[in-house]
Amino acid sequence: MNPQPFREAVIDLDAIRGNVAAIARQVAPAQVMAVVKADAYGHGAVPVARAAIAGGAEWLGVADIAEALALRDAGIDAPVLAWLHDPAEAFAPAIEREVDLGVSSAPQLQAIADAAASVARPAAVHLKIDSGLSRNGVAPEEWGAVVAAAARGEREGSLRVRGVFSHLANTSPEEDTRQLAAFEAALAAASDAGLAPEVRHLASTAAALRMPAARFDLVRIGIGSYGVPPFGDGTTAEELGLRPAMTLRARVAAVRRVEAGTGASYGHIWRAERPTTLALVPLGYADGVPRQASNRAEVWLAGARRPVVGRIAMDQFVVDVGDDAVAPGDEVVLFGDPLTGAPSADDWGDAADTIGYEIVTRIGARVPRTYVGGP
Ligand SMILES: *Cc1c(COP(=O)(O)O)cnc(C)c1O
Repeated sequence: MNPQPFREAVIDLDAIRGNVAAIARQVAPAQVMAVVKADAYGHGAVPVARAAIAGGAEWLGVADIAEALALRDAGIDAPVLAWLHDPAEAFAPAIEREVDLGVSSAPQLQAIADAAASVARPAAVHLKIDSGLSRNGVAPEEWGAVVAAAARGEREGSLRVRGVFSHLANTSPEEDTRQLAAFEAALAAASDAGLAPEVRHLASTAAALRMPAARFDLVRIGIGSYGVPPFGDGTTAEELGLRPAMTLRARVAAVRRVEAGTGASYGHIWRAERPTTLALVPLGYADGVPRQASNRAEVWLAGARRPVVGRIAMDQFVVDVGDDAVAPGDEVVLFGDPLTGAPSADDWGDAADTIGYEIVTRIGARVPRTYVGGP
């Protein structure tokens, strides 16, 4: 029998399908866009996209056009929106393959209209207003000119304004409410210019769950699809009715009994205070296990939470199991569903002064993804 791999990220596609379905129920009648950028936050864009569609997602969202085209190459024909473009982007391939394009400036809108003319088919665009994030999106003072140009493009047949959208800073309820008002003003201006977008969308996971007024016609759900809480306030996946989809695990590579005073890993930032047993875990920062979590994170091993001791290295780190029995080949879980006893991705985020998003997204290419469940 094939033993469990040396290291792997197990992706539970039924969890993804269930998470999307749970959020879809909660936000209805708004639709759900499953955000699968960055290889679906490290989970694998194509299998996740299929699972999300099975869970009721009617849209897919990505950052780059290349990510959208990879979905098309895999045979996925659901509506896809890409919103972050190279200033020199060639938009024609995206238009030909029916990728909807986010628009963040007047020159970008013009480039898209020109590309649409070159392939003799209208580009479906979603105009993005910067409602206060000061990142991507049309600056408010340019919004009037952009909606006027978009309306002209619709009349000329080069553009179809399918959406108007924005993105929240998740700074505070007050700030989100200010952004919501800015978004509504932008919608009114679009309407005054003669635009009638099919989907108005503002909320990502956090606002979709906690700010019903931000749901409009469509919510863009990234982290919630993966069963990782968006809030960073200790709210658990279970409390949100979600289930973590990724379990990062490995098999213990070696076990060593050491005397009191023995240092472990680079720099000996940790020394045994008593005789103890150390287990070697074959994952390191090359695999996305943050070195910042050295001496702070915990893993699940031999039926209990165990501390990571000493520096996390490129390929490996050490866990203190005390006097408990552990053997090479035993399963060790870095994070997964906390209902199993394992830490969550958020626990690792806390240990590394970051967020669960970054923990799952950075799991490296050396870690094979194994899929369970799914359509
Ligand atoms: C990444 C992203 C999302 C998804 O955010 P989550 O917090 O993961 O749900 C939504 N909208 C935009 C514009 C994004 O860049």
